[in-house]
Order: sequence, then C-alpha cells, then structure tokens
Amino acid sequence: AAKSDGRGRFVMYDSERDARQAARYALAAELPDALDRREFTLVYQPLVSLEDRELRGVEALVRWDHPRLGRLSPDAFIPLAEETGVILPLGRWVLEQACAQASEWAKEFPDRRVAMSVNMTVSQAHDPGLLADVDGILMRTGWDPALLVLELTESAVMDPDGTASLNGLAERGIRIAIDDFGTGYSNLAYLRRLPVHVLKLAGPFVEGLRDSEGESDSVDERIVETIIKLAHAIGISVTAEAVETAPQEAALRQLGCDTGQGWLFSRPLSSSGVTELLVKSFSSSSADV
Ligand code: C2E
Ligand code: MG
Ligand code: MG
Ligand code: MG
Repeated sequence: AAKSDGRGRFVMYDSERDARQAARYALAAELPDALDRREFTLVYQPLVSLEDRELRGVEALVRWDHPRLGRLSPDAFIPLAEETGVILPLGRWVLEQACAQASEWAKEFPDRRVAMSVNMTVSQAHDPGLLADVDGILMRTGWDPALLVLELTESAVMDPDGTASLNGLAERGIRIAIDDFGTGYSNLAYLRRLPVHVLKLAGPFVEGLRDSEGESDSVDERIVETIIKLAHAIGISVTAEAVETAPQEAALRQLGCDTGQGWLFSRPLSSSGVTELLVKSFSSSSADV
C-alpha cells in the first residue's frame, strides 16, 4: 500500500474504525444466542453503611462469559443490547436471577436481609411491559419488593413520557435509585414529580473528595455536601459510588453520606463470595451477643 503519507494515514484510520464497527456488529449479532446459551452471569458488589461498614445491600452487575473473548464487562455489550433491543430479554433474565439469588440468601440467612439493586437502561424503564414483568418475577421468586432497588440513570428519568411505570414500581414498595448522579444533565425537576429514594453519587465526585495527602478539593467537597443536604431534606438517601480510599470514606462519613460502594469495601463478588460474607457477618454478630 504505497500511498501518500496524508492519504495513507487517513485510509488506515478509516479502516481501523471500520474494523471496530464490524467487531461491534459481530458482537451484537451474537447477543441473542448468548442468552439462550446462558453465557451471562451476575456478580454482586456490596453496599455498606458508612456508619459501621455493615452490609446493607448488593448491586447485581452482569458479565458476559464470551466463548472466544473471555469475560466481558457490561460497558462492552450493554450499549449494543440497548441498540438492538436484546436488553429487554437480557434485563428480564438479570432481574429474575438477582431476585431468585436474593431469596435464596434470605432463606439461608433470615436475620441478615440485604437489599438487591438491579440496573435498568432507558428502554427497560420505558418498556410498557415492565410492571407485568416485575410482578411475575416477584411472584415466581418470592422476593420482597421492599428489598428491591432499581437503578436508573438521569437520562432515563428525564423524559416524562417514559416514566409512567415508576409510580407503579413505587406503589409496590420498590425503591428507585438515580445512578451516576451528577454526571448527566442534572435537571433536578424530576425529583419533584418522581418517586426517587436513593441518589448514587457518581465516582468523579468521590474521587475529588480527598487526595492522597488527605487534602480536600473544596469545590467537590462543597458540591457533595450540598447534594447530601438536598437529598436528606427531601427524604432521599445517598450512596457514594467508587469509594477507593480511607480518606474518601472519612470525608463521606463526615458529610453524612448514608452508604458506600467501592473497592475499599469490596470488589464485585461471585454469588458464593457473597454467601461467604454473609456467613462471616453472621458469626461475628452472634459472637457479639
Ligand atoms: P454502575 O451501575 O454505575 O455500576 C458501578 C460500576 O462501578 C461497576 O462496573 C463496578 O464494578 C464499578 N466499580 C465498583 N467499585 C469501584 C471502585 O471503587 N472504583 C471504580 N473505578 N469502579 C468501581 P461494571 O460492573 O463494569 O458496570 C458498568 C455499568 O454497566 C454499570 O454501572 C451499569 O450502568 C451497567 N450494568 C451493569 N450490569 C447491568 C445490568 O444487569 N443491566 C443493565 N441495564 N446495566 C448494567
Ligand atoms: Mg467494569
Ligand atoms: Mg448501578
Ligand atoms: Mg453508577
């Protein structure tokens, strides 16, 4: 390929982009069969109380164990599932699997009930069949709706036409969390018309809280403080995402943040990893008695 420098570079860039696009199409085309072949699995990341680090809940996070590419993170395939519509059957599988697993833990550890959080995309939230699906899943799994949290992004709740079922979810006792709060167009108007129970403070705010020397970035700290005050004033609790350091944890606790999630507390765990955690917290709490 003896082409002029400028043209050559342009052609190369173009073909690289085409190759990436082709790989995306190929992956998207494999999604429906992957569901039938049970290639998806859930991992669970603990959410802890910032007062005492007690386990309060877990968030279900989907993984794709691809036969050739290995374990794929959701960022690699959730957008494709959303574009192709596969997100609806995939999302139903995730919700049913998460509720079934939560019910199993509740049976095994009746004194250590933890909430189950499940993520939802825009089209899942806008799906007219959502409430019927949720009812069927709660009935089949026996999971308590009061211990179910559905996480939606701000973009999913911005469109008033797409949020008709949120009131129905809330009537069932299901809690609604706003995921990645502060990263979207934070038009707070939706807080006035929607049943929101939890704000999940986005990672970048948490990252800005304190650097390794323990110095706080005053702007980020004031923003976080104000978000927490606002949320608490209207009866909403706050979970900090991506808590990685002890100084971040200390700052969040001092600012009154309710719960935390992040590598400082735990990476996402397999279901047996969560079971081990429940066994441990059970034995430590009975030792206290
Ligand atoms: P998310 O709901 O905001 O989930 C939190 C993400 O942050 C997870 O990435 C988690 O592994 C990661 N994380 C946890 N602790 C830390 C930390 O201390 N530091 C940093 N830097 N990151 C941390 P993951 O599992 O790759 O999920 C990415 C996104 O994919 C999720 O973001 C969620 O929006 C979406 N997603 C995951 N599972 C599902 C699902 O079942 N359904 C739908 N619709 N979306 C999902
Ligand atoms: Mg990831
Ligand atoms: Mg989430
Ligand atoms: Mg998030």
